[in-house]
Amino acid sequence: MFNVTTIESGYFMADGGAMFGAIPKRAWSRKYVCTDDNLCSLAMRCVLAVSSDGKRKVLIDLGMGDKHLSQVNYYQPYDLLNIADALDSHGYHSNDITDVVLTHLHFDHCGYATLKDVNGDVMPSFPNANYWLSGQQWRNILSPNRLEQDAIFADNILPIQEAGLLHLIDEDTMLYDGFRLRLFDGHSVGQLVVYIEGKDGVIVFPGDLIPTSAHVSLEWISAYDLCALTSLTEKQRFLEEAESNNYMLIYYHDARVVKSKVKKINDNYKATDLHYL
Ligand SMILES: [Zn+2]
Repeated sequence: MFNVTTIESGYFMADGGAMFGAIPKRAWSRKYVCTDDNLCSLAMRCVLAVSSDGKRKVLIDLGMGDKHLSQVNYYQPYDLLNIADALDSHGYHSNDITDVVLTHLHFDHCGYATLKDVNGDVMPSFPNANYWLSGQQWRNILSPNRLEQDAIFADNILPIQEAGLLHLIDEDTMLYDGFRLRLFDGHSVGQLVVYIEGKDGVIVFPGDLIPTSAHVSLEWISAYDLCALTSLTEKQRFLEEAESNNYMLIYYHDARVVKSKVKKINDNYKATDLHYL
């Protein structure tokens, strides 16, 4: 069993039309607030999961980091928090982290995987951790497609591979007792979704499969997703199980709703039991 806490690593602004794809603004703006120029504030909510015996201290996704701020300032990042500082407030040091799970390699999920040292060299931020990533994501970064190439920075992951810390997942895996990784496509290839047994049941970190509580509805698919139809069938597969097993979902990008459960209504899904920031 694991004790799960969330870390708010910062926020950025994304176009609401892009976040909600084909859904009209009249519909999505009732569920997610935006500014006058249509921008939605998105969180980068990481997870720290510590096993009850204290042996595993796992981080899931790592925010955008600070190595590429000039390239991503279009997204107006704000309130960025260094994960190392956040760990400090939980009584841990970066060296204590045993595992890092990266759901995928878009810059807003893995920026703090590496950091620049005093000489300007880029090093793993968590030198004693095993970093877990899907094999498909790793192969994707070696020849990024045109739609994703601006969202991927090689120095977020290459120094980890060079340090021998990178481990690739090619099938659904029980990594540790009560800690499972499963693969989902659609948003990108081979995104990892994390299932954790907590004291009140299973907590799931769906990453960008369901970035906010508004995206629980099946057709609410971001235009950032590479393949909308695959996202739809993958969400359906995920939500069916989440509802019947009463999972708690933690939303990485929802600036207001930290976590919720899901409920099937007619042939669609809705977020219920919402926990606000
Ligand atoms: Zn993404």
